[in-house]
Amino acid sequence: MTTAVYPGSFDPTTNGHIDIIRRAAKIVDTLIVAVLDNHAKNSMFSVAERVSHLKEITKDIENVKIDSFSGLLVDFAKINNVKMIVRGLRALTDFEFEFQMALTNRELSGEIETLFIPTSKEYLFLSSSVVKEIARFSGDYSGMVPEIIKRELERKFNI
Ligand code: ADP
Repeated sequence: MTTAVYPGSFDPTTNGHIDIIRRAAKIVDTLIVAVLDNHAKNSMFSVAERVSHLKEITKDIENVKIDSFSGLLVDFAKINNVKMIVRGLRALTDFEFEFQMALTNRELSGEIETLFIPTSKEYLFLSSSVVKEIARFSGDYSGMVPEIIKRELERKFNI
């Protein structure tokens, strides 16, 4: 049985994240999507809100579980007996950071492997920050996020 963890901020979840979740869920037996509770980062949505969005979005995918964590990912992985980390790769700009993270996590726990899944080309330039920026100025971001996230962004910006 292979269990993997897909960690991230998911602030908010975009169609790029969902694409990675669906594709990773086909490869492993169980996929834990883990929302990072990072106090240093100024998040738009609380961890509870982000977990709730992801639960709603992934409710049709049987082998996906949603959780949250703070602290080191390798500790979360150990507690949950997970040996694989899934990360999405967009442009080359993601690569250096992701490569560094993957090597650091292996340094911290020799049992952990990182599986990189390349983005689908329609999501190459899609990020949570881009979506928030467009939403802030009432631009059109349909096609970038699911309906539930669109509603939540409109609620946050009182549109
Ligand atoms: P962001 O970089 O948008 O703040 P997260 O911290 O939530 O995103 O990222 C979690 C993971 O999802 C990372 O591995 C990131 O590279 C990946 N990811 C984010 N957006 C996309 C996308 N459009 N396509 C593929 N992977 C993505």
